[in-house]
Amino acid sequence: MLKSFQHYIDGEFSDAATTFESVDPATGVAWATMPAASADDVDRAVKAADRALFAPEWAGLTASQRGKLLYRLADLVAANAQELAQLETTDTGKIIRETRSQIGYVAEYYRYYAGVADKIQGACLPVDKPDMDVFLRREPVGVVAGIVPWNSQLFLSAVKVGPALAAGCTIVLKASEEGPAPLLAFARLVHEAGFPAGVVNILTGFGADCGRALTSHPLVSKIAFTGGPETARQIVRNSAGNLAATSLELGGKSPVLVFDDANVDSVSNAVIAGIFAASGQSCVAGSRLLVQRGIRDRLLARLVEKAQAIRIGDPQEVDTEMGPLATRKQRDHIEAVLAASLQAGATLLTGGGRPAGRGEGFFFEPTIVDCPTSTVPSVAQELFGPVLSVMTFDTEAQAIALANDTKYGLASGVFTRDLTLAHRLTRRLRAGIVWVNTYRAVSPIVPFGGYGLSGLGREGGLDAVLEYTRTKSVWIRTSDEPIADPFVMR
Ligand code: NAD
Repeated sequence: MLKSFQHYIDGEFSDAATTFESVDPATGVAWATMPAASADDVDRAVKAADRALFAPEWAGLTASQRGKLLYRLADLVAANAQELAQLETTDTGKIIRETRSQIGYVAEYYRYYAGVADKIQGACLPVDKPDMDVFLRREPVGVVAGIVPWNSQLFLSAVKVGPALAAGCTIVLKASEEGPAPLLAFARLVHEAGFPAGVVNILTGFGADCGRALTSHPLVSKIAFTGGPETARQIVRNSAGNLAATSLELGGKSPVLVFDDANVDSVSNAVIAGIFAASGQSCVAGSRLLVQRGIRDRLLARLVEKAQAIRIGDPQEVDTEMGPLATRKQRDHIEAVLAASLQAGATLLTGGGRPAGRGEGFFFEPTIVDCPTSTVPSVAQELFGPVLSVMTFDTEAQAIALANDTKYGLASGVFTRDLTLAHRLTRRLRAGIVWVNTYRAVSPIVPFGGYGLSGLGREGGLDAVLEYTRTKSVWIRTSDEPIADPFVMR
């Protein structure tokens, strides 16, 4: 008997006309049925969000009252983190020790935006006309369409739902068709927190119908998307009719630069964290290791040793360090790109296959390949898996050229004890994040987003909330005198 999940539309839980099965990636066996939202379901959800936007139950709340609802939601997320983590682990294969800690931290994102709600301020302008007062109001941008990919759905939706609600918007959130269970379960917490009907709607379905219907809906004013660049292009095309504002958090091929003076112990753990945590299924994965010649052999020997010692296994076990990939398709893709890379001249240093004894689960070994050029497929393409591509440099200039030789620009890591070198690199690397002597650190207080094909706009931090507002300029004339010349612009 499979577990079944429902949509949350207009404050009610409902079934969809069609369903699909969700597979546990650790076993390859279906464990739940999910509702597949149709274009009609999407239309119902967007219309509910549009009604809620202007209804007194939501529009009539003060900013502080919106903040209180968000605080309540944060508390509920924290209280239910264990259950949500288990669902995410079952539905995506992400290991339980990461889902537990990440979802505990998701509560902090809601707390952060709860606190921001009553700090979104307008302005009074010193306008250059003596008989005018001008002020600016920050108003909610409207109905938001939030779309997330399968990795870290609760986390990636918190950076959309939090600022959207703080700003007074309403939202229709589309969970990925892969691993939607935790987000559909989160809907119960939204309901319990007491948000008025229609303010938050959560559904799932496939990109071609549900995703397309949502991003081309005429009542949607803003699209907050996280996913791959090709989908982003389709979404921009879908939104053209309505000219909806878009923020796009896309893929990456992030470089980790290691200089000769770095500490091998500390760097090796950070490199492992960057590429093998979440089995490499992380947008900020440090998938290109650029290493200076003098430290190369020592660092690679340590990395190979550590990669071979990683405990691969049941993602629900707290000792497991690497679980399966989320989908069979994902593993097939990684295998194909790796084979092409070896053909193109890359050398396998460790891994490269499916670990023994894992049955039908979608497991793949932690893999390191030494690559002669940037044209090797594993260097050029995002794999979204546990494959580290290594390249060697001699000079700082070569390191920068290799690091920036990518169409992406999400994150980067620099490992050196030379402060002046580190500062120079923070200026020269074309990426939205530079981590120095650390990797994969995030916080609700810090903006997150990419350059180039890694995206448009920033999530996290104070400014992100402004992307969910628009400015209204209010002009008030303080004089009763007739306007001097009605035919000339003042
Ligand atoms: P994807 O682009 O295939 O799908 C993402 C979402 O878009 C899913 O919900 C999907 O149903 C939906 N979608 C697909 N086609 C659509 C369409 N035509 N219209 C509207 N919606 C549509 O991505 P994925 O394979 O699920 O996720 C992996 C990608 O996400 C990687 O590239 C990864 O780097 C990226 N990612 C980026 C970040 C970030 O913050 N920068 C974070 C996590 C993942």
